[in-house]
Amino acid sequence: MNATELQIKDLENLIGNLKESLLFQKASILNKSHEFKAEQSSVSAHGDEAEIASLDASNNISIHLHERDRTALYSIERALGKISDGTYGQCEACGEMIAARRLQARPFTALCIDCMEEQESHSNIYQ
Ligand SMILES: [Zn+2]
Repeated sequence: MNATELQIKDLENLIGNLKESLLFQKASILNKSHEFKAEQSSVSAHGDEAEIASLDASNNISIHLHERDRTALYSIERALGKISDGTYGQCEACGEMIAARRLQARPFTALCIDCMEEQESHSNIYQ
């Protein structure tokens, strides 16, 4: 087995595990936002002022989480889409395969290490 075959084998294993974990993460985010909505509607049905005040505080946290979850959900959907059309693991800039080790560490990465470094050398906004 040469290095390329090994990389492909690694990638297949990685994608198999990743897909499961992405689907699990997606389900738990959707579950959470469902609970959040249920909480919202039950409180509006009955609420004195103290309850509303404490609701405001927890709402801010929930909205914040919600925003973060939305971003996470977007990344998850994007990765799942790539897995299903067979483009997962390809660098979006140069089209080369991203190293399996890199994908393992950063499953949502869209660039190979070379392109990432190239991009960072032009701008350090994201560092
Ligand atoms: Zn690249």
